[in-house]
Amino acid sequence: MKLYSTNKQVPEVGLKEALFRGLPADNGLYMPTEIPSLPSSFFENIENLSFKEIAFEVAKTLLQNDIAEDKLKTIIDDAVNFDAPVVKVKDNKHVLELFHGPTLAFKDFGGRFMGRIMQHYLEEGERVHILVATSGDTGSAVAQGFLGMDGIDVTILYPKGKVSFIQEQQLTTNGQNIKALEIDGTFDDCQRMVKEAFLDKELNAHLHLTSANSINICRLIPQSFYYFYAYAQTKALGKPVVFCTPSGNFGNLCGGLIAERMGLPIHQFIASTNANDIVPTYLKTKEFTPRPSVKTLSNAMDVGNPSNFPRLMALHEDSYEKVSSRIKGYAYNDEQTLEKMKEVYQESAYVMCPHTAVGYYGLEDYLKETKEDVTGIVLGTAHPVKFKDIVEDNLSKEIEMPQRLKELIEREKQAISMGTEFSELKEYLLEMAMSQK
Ligand SMILES: *Cc1c(COP(=O)(O)O)cnc(C)c1O
Repeated sequence: MKLYSTNKQVPEVGLKEALFRGLPADNGLYMPTEIPSLPSSFFENIENLSFKEIAFEVAKTLLQNDIAEDKLKTIIDDAVNFDAPVVKVKDNKHVLELFHGPTLAFKDFGGRFMGRIMQHYLEEGERVHILVATSGDTGSAVAQGFLGMDGIDVTILYPKGKVSFIQEQQLTTNGQNIKALEIDGTFDDCQRMVKEAFLDKELNAHLHLTSANSINICRLIPQSFYYFYAYAQTKALGKPVVFCTPSGNFGNLCGGLIAERMGLPIHQFIASTNANDIVPTYLKTKEFTPRPSVKTLSNAMDVGNPSNFPRLMALHEDSYEKVSSRIKGYAYNDEQTLEKMKEVYQESAYVMCPHTAVGYYGLEDYLKETKEDVTGIVLGTAHPVKFKDIVEDNLSKEIEMPQRLKELIEREKQAISMGTEFSELKEYLLEMAMSQK
């Protein structure tokens, strides 16, 4: 596949270059120059295919001949190794549960796929060093996605005391090729240190540094797979499908838009956000006004300047009319989020995380407004147990921990404490580079 930059100031690149660069030099975002359609026979038979089989067909079509089929099959089988069931909540409302992977959130799909594609492209004896700053979720999905990969080292910087206990366990107990640095500062300090590292000449002479940023094209691609799989699971209902995606940076929604460009019949997209309602406001008023994010209960969507917005526009020929008719936007505050979570639990005995509740609210309002007879599917982005305190307080109910989380909680934390000076990070990384020579 070939990829262009949404800013169109740099030449097209191949998948390998887009993967290792992450961002094009003109600060745009990489997008496929061509999004090929799947044949109609694929959709006629899709309900008979497994999730892995669907993901393989989609990846093969999108990547064209970049990776040999048998190799791609191995990558997919290994990356898509947990289920994403569609669960009926009430009437025509469903949740596509994307949280059955190692870190209990949909970001596992991106992390696992990217890790395996990167390993595929590493030459014999080549090493890369992934440096990530995280406020919680991204770091753990990346750590899990790259765990045990030969030739890839991962260093994660996270702000001390500012991630949840479960998140910290996910970041610091991996071992093997994953190292966690506990920075005595804020997330912004972590990000600044990582940025300085990418610019430091001496460091870059010794290490092949790369990022695993959420805008990487290899994290986006697998986020299209489960839209097809949700369609396959609900096809027998015989109704048009509406997807509602709880959104922050809008990468998850872009996965759905790519699926549609490949031929998946989707009646309508809905984007639901928390109080950080930059995109819903844009869809209603044509005014795009990024602003500092505000803190909410659905904190993985606390984004004031959604990084995938250029992709959202590129997928609609940069036309406001097109984007605003294909995507309906809704936004809800914390109080509404808690109310909806409670109502759904009381009426249907279904427990959802705050992000999924924001999505469910959006789907309900859309269905009320349009009175359409459709199959509604909300993307369930995280397991409710990831937000245990919020959910348990709100529902006055204890939620059961999955076994893999119980095991995680008992593991020993291994983190290196560090201040906020870049020189400290640099020294640490140089030492590591020397010890590997
Ligand atoms: C990252 C995340 C989101 C937001 O996804 P985007 O692709 O940034 O829109 C929503 N819910 C959860 C649980 C997340 O981790």
